[in-house]
Amino acid sequence: EAQIWMHVRVARLGTRFILVLADDRTEAHRLEEVRRDFIANISHELKTPIGAITLLSEALEMAADDPDQVRRFAERMESEAGRLSRLTLEIIELSRLQAVDTLATAEDVRLDHVISSAVDQNHVAANARGMELAVGGKKKVTVRGDEALLTLAVHNLIANAVQYSPDGSRIGIGVRLEAGVAEIAVTDQGIGIGEDDLPRVFERFFRVDQARSRNTGGTGLGLSIVKHVVQNHGGDIRAWSQPGKGSTFTIRLPEADTDASAAQGDKA
Ligand code: ADP
Repeated sequence: EAQIWMHVRVARLGTRFILVLADDRTEAHRLEEVRRDFIANISHELKTPIGAITLLSEALEMAADDPDQVRRFAERMESEAGRLSRLTLEIIELSRLQAVDTLATAEDVRLDHVISSAVDQNHVAANARGMELAVGGKKKVTVRGDEALLTLAVHNLIANAVQYSPDGSRIGIGVRLEAGVAEIAVTDQGIGIGEDDLPRVFERFFRVDQARSRNTGGTGLGLSIVKHVVQNHGGDIRAWSQPGKGSTFTIRLPEADTDASAAQGDKA
């Protein structure tokens, strides 16, 4: 139930001041605004690859006699289409995650399984650039949640670490358990994130300029997806970074009360 606060504001009408009775922005209004911004951002982000594909297809028609140009335009079309497809999938994923506060189903999930799947998914990309994905820390840590979503979250962190680090560098992935809180940390020796940008990296579509100019093909949605997955699991995410040195992202989740859920016969 949204609360409505009436506020008295002073407005200026010509040379006179008048008192205006206005309802403050309720939570519902705020959410509506967030949704509108999101949709505006989506349209903007989708227009770029769609526009590029349209132009490239016209160019392709005109370049029909020149096989080299045809190949170049076709390659660029393929890459823009790939970007469009990534964007679409991530927007759908994020909308799905934003639509719910808590998970529909939760089961016991072993974090070492989550990490090894996420590492496997990034293995080829890391290998191609001579990077080491070093997994360490505690083995048997269990949380309640959705294994596929948690794997997606850890995958996104590792994929970023690979994306924004130099060839041959090392990425550490570790699990710790402290006072019933499980913590996954992903540490890289990459380009880092400046102090002003760091608080914004979890915003939808936010990209640090530096990275954008490197033409990495990122969508700016990866970390918002991570944030929503973690929030839906009752956890939190934090980031530390030193430009030029590297970054650490940590996900903290409540440890599963495995004895209790076993005793209850998993009635949830
Ligand atoms: P993207 O798809 O662009 O990677 P993300 O939401 O995953 O989007 O990340 C947002 C931005 O934060 C990235 O564009 C990049 O500038 C910055 N970033 C994320 N992870 C790292 C990292 N490990 N090292 C340096 N910069 C990072």
